[in-house]
Amino acid sequence: MLSTIRSQSLLVVLVILTVTLASAIIISQSTFLISVKEQVYESLESHNVYVDTLVSSDGSFNPGSVQEYADIQNIRITLIHRDGRVLFDSEYDEKSMESHLYRQEVQTSLKKGMGTSERFSATQRLPVLYLSTYEGPEAFGFIRVSTPLQQLRSHRRVFSRYMSLSSALLLLLTIAITAYTLSKINRPLEDVKQLASSYANGNLKAKKIIRGPLELQQLSQVLMEMAGKLNTTMADLNTSRSMIETMINSVSQGLILLDSNLTVQIANSPSYALIGTDQVLDGKPIHRIINSPALMERLRQSLKEQTGLTLILEHYNHLWGETAIIVGREQTKTIRIAIDPVYSETDNLAIVITLTDMSAFAKLEQIRKDFVANVSHELKTPITAISGFAHTLLEEQEKLSEEQQRYLSIIQRQSDNMLTVIQDLLLLSSLENGKSSLTRSWVDIEHVVQQSINSCRYKADIKEIMIDTLIENPDSLSVYIHPMLIQQALTNLLMNAVNYSPEHSQVTVQISVNEEDIIFKVTDHGVGIALEDQERIFERFYRVDAARSRSQGGTGLGLSIVKHIAQVHDGSVEVTSTLGRGSTFTIRVSRKGKDFSSLSSHREQINS
Ligand code: ADP
Repeated sequence: MLSTIRSQSLLVVLVILTVTLASAIIISQSTFLISVKEQVYESLESHNVYVDTLVSSDGSFNPGSVQEYADIQNIRITLIHRDGRVLFDSEYDEKSMESHLYRQEVQTSLKKGMGTSERFSATQRLPVLYLSTYEGPEAFGFIRVSTPLQQLRSHRRVFSRYMSLSSALLLLLTIAITAYTLSKINRPLEDVKQLASSYANGNLKAKKIIRGPLELQQLSQVLMEMAGKLNTTMADLNTSRSMIETMINSVSQGLILLDSNLTVQIANSPSYALIGTDQVLDGKPIHRIINSPALMERLRQSLKEQTGLTLILEHYNHLWGETAIIVGREQTKTIRIAIDPVYSETDNLAIVITLTDMSAFAKLEQIRKDFVANVSHELKTPITAISGFAHTLLEEQEKLSEEQQRYLSIIQRQSDNMLTVIQDLLLLSSLENGKSSLTRSWVDIEHVVQQSINSCRYKADIKEIMIDTLIENPDSLSVYIHPMLIQQALTNLLMNAVNYSPEHSQVTVQISVNEEDIIFKVTDHGVGIALEDQERIFERFYRVDAARSRSQGGTGLGLSIVKHIAQVHDGSVEVTSTLGRGSTFTIRVSRKGKDFSSLSSHREQINS
């Protein structure tokens, strides 16, 4: 049990009191004893002097008068011979007594003339004081007088009676005074306690006037000041908190803070709307809110690598991803999820998830894609017909005038160009929509490369350009890819390399295969691409030199197709180039990538 200030103080006072009383008793007793002994020795000395007068120098004495004196004075008188024999004793039969030569007081008197000693008498239960004198070598021996300290007995009786009475009185008085003093401190102490409890319960405005000891008044003052400051700080915090809350709740995006265990710490109101729930999200693991393995994979990756990542997920009711598309159809929402690792105040890694509704944008994008696909599709047949008829008519050259032939070859060239654009657009559409009927298969990559080179051969031959093939690690060339698509991508790169290189130059195709990836490098020594154009050449219809591209039969879609094909294979394409020196295009694709059916998961990359 915890002790209170009252009980502790009382205990301390009692201990001090007991110690003081005990010391007082010990001191008074010992001083009393010293003074009593002094008095007794003095009287023994005078008795000794008197006894000396009763004994003649040759040692003869009247035992009757010595005995009488001893009885009157209530003392014990012993006469001892030089050799220690007891000649007379007023209390015992001297004949039966042993030699007294070696008694302490006798030995001292032998050396100094007078000797004293004190021994405790077991029979009387009192100390007995002895005083002995040596009468000189000519005399008979020693005179010893002794008496028990009778005074002690009466003193003890009186002392213990008064002492216990006064001690009891003192004790009562001390307890009463201490209790009174403590009760005076206790009231203000209770008040301070109540004040502190009010603050602990959140009532920071509580006040109390303490009438009591200065220290408690000061303590309450400090407490009240502290509570005042705390109140102001809390108010400031609440204001800034509500400002931040208003701000994060009024953005159109959903914001969710996750801890490193991927549990929701805070979620703003738009995130409830976007997820379509009114249940409290705080404290729930994220996989119970957004049930998507793709998201979990990205979250773990983001935590591990501490990098920001994004993904696009379809959402319908509580369904996410492919299932949401199938079940929700038109009502499916497209949500862009940005994952950003952040460090919280405690320096623990946390994650901020930003949810953005991209449905409208995705719809527009789909309309655009559908439009391009539909127009391309609708134009394909009439333009094929126009091109075909122009070809047929041109075969009847003799029936046509020179002017008619010129018009017809323009019609034929332009319609062929349009047909190439339409074919490229249709291929892009099928890549974007994941509608390509092509599937992955195990193929010999060297064969695919050779096919691409063959497609470009006629153009290269015209410009007398050499196409070299360089193969690293030729033992592992069997790869799981979409051969037609990879062939298309390589053909596009090779066509560009030939188109943008001077005559008699050299183009190299380099292939290397490792456990994870296949890397294709197409290097030319042509015109090169300026740094500012390098980022943009993969955009649709972007040409550095439009006239030159068109004259080479380019559509401005070739590199865009290459990029999409690389992404379909979970890969990428990049360029390094120096203006006037040449370029190297590198395609890096996954060797055992996901199946073509997972095309839709690449949509966010394709859209970029
Ligand atoms: P295009 O059909 O015009 O070649 P691409 O998408 O294939 O369209 O290429 C885009 C542009 O990038 C081209 O117009 C050209 O300016 C530039 N380019 C592509 N490949 C090369 C290359 N190997 N050397 C120099 N420029 C190139």
